[in-house]
Amino acid sequence: MKTIHNIKEMQQYCRDQRQSGKRIGFVPTMGALHEGHLRLVDEAKKHSDVVVVSIFVNPTQFGPNEDFEKYPRDLEADAAKLAPRGADVVFNPNASDMYPEDCLSTIHVRTITADLCGAHRPGHFDGVALVVTKLFNIVGECTAVFGRKDFQQLQVIKRFTADLNIPVQIIGMPTVREADGLAMSSRNSYLSPDERKRALAIARALTEAHELFTKRSPLATIEQYITEAVMQSFDTIDYVTVVHPETLQPLDGDASYPQTVLVAVAAKIGSTRLIDNTVLGEDAPPINK
Ligand code: AMP
Repeated sequence: MKTIHNIKEMQQYCRDQRQSGKRIGFVPTMGALHEGHLRLVDEAKKHSDVVVVSIFVNPTQFGPNEDFEKYPRDLEADAAKLAPRGADVVFNPNASDMYPEDCLSTIHVRTITADLCGAHRPGHFDGVALVVTKLFNIVGECTAVFGRKDFQQLQVIKRFTADLNIPVQIIGMPTVREADGLAMSSRNSYLSPDERKRALAIARALTEAHELFTKRSPLATIEQYITEAVMQSFDTIDYVTVVHPETLQPLDGDASYPQTVLVAVAAKIGSTRLIDNTVLGEDAPPINK
């Protein structure tokens, strides 16, 4: 497995691969890799001949009081996890190369960034859209694999890729969970053993939401149930929301009971912010009873 830091070298490598007839699979990450990331690599391999994994803690997607400084960084440990899964290249650019001082451009996706994480992390999705656009322009035509754990992010990426005619095929993969149901996240490493136990409240509430949905409970009841359940274990709730899985807009209460709905949660234990979601009527419940 190769490690490339230089942007031009990465571009050239990908061009050469394509010229020799190889298809490229791409998995963008911020490192601190866990099994959830590695499953994206497995999927990328199925659609390609060469898999590139980027590891870049992107400063433009963090707010001023967020965890950019303390975000876990360990390139060697990440590389040791990627090699046995068959990744071919780790792309690890420097922040100063990715963002020269004269970068004046922004990528802003309207509407679907307004609520959920967009409402609580101003500028976050502009930062995500900018870095992913840059990474797509560096890697070039490829199949890129993302996790549904960051559901709104996946919708935003799908949207600007289509809107801007970027020649990248996007695949979204199910959330990978710990044995007890907690969604895997690099940020779980911030949790103390007690906080780790409390964090399970979201997966439990989302599991119960599946039961309520099967019984065709009103969506407002489902939202309220999750809010109350999460409130008991978390310190603050950013949002608990039940929305249309594609538009991310509230569903029409007068319409017939929906086939599928997205339930998304963001909440904090201390300063650790965790997100999770499930699509009722589509995903398996987070916890197998
Ligand atoms: P990040 O953790 O921000 O570096 O995310 C890199 C990619 O991994 C994104 O596409 C995430 O959605 C995805 N990802 C993170 N956690 C999980 C998980 N538990 N299951 C599946 N994909 C994940």
